Amino acid sequence: MSRKINPLDTGNEPQAALGDAERKALEEIYRRVDEEVEQSGVKCWLRGDCCDFEKMDHTLYASSVELDYLKEKHPEPFSADSVLCPFWEEGLCVERERRPLGCRTYFCDGNYSEQLQSIYEKYHAEIRELAQHSKSPYSYEPFVAALRPRHDNT
Ligand code: SF4
Repeated sequence: MSRKINPLDTGNEPQAALGDAERKALEEIYRRVDEEVEQSGVKCWLRGDCCDFEKMDHTLYASSVELDYLKEKHPEPFSADSVLCPFWEEGLCVERERRPLGCRTYFCDGNYSEQLQSIYEKYHAEIRELAQHSKSPYSYEPFVAALRPRHDNT
């Protein structure tokens, strides 16, 4: 499954903080995503390839609501100068609780790619709907670049 999905809006305005209702709604979406992924039967092979963007030549995108949720816990921008995720440490994800939808639905086992893509699209639509009912503008951005300071986002 490719995670290169065209950005729908790459606005560069500062992101507003999430309200309580949005936060709870997003957490409930993630809970249901994880449940469906678990029910699909796909297993993590613990190879760490899914987060190795250079090796796998893929770009992870995330929506503004998801980025807001992550930035609540990590308010300081990362000064990463690589394409790799700052939460990927020694081959493991250290931010599983707030990782975005794209991370939750991407596995090395290609036998599940259609099923996982379907789960991704279903919940991405829900997240987009959630954003449209919130005051923060919707955007869909390359995940790692969005975590950097704005002047590095070129
Ligand atoms: S947030 Fe976690 S799962 Fe997602 S790319 Fe970063 S290290 Fe990997």
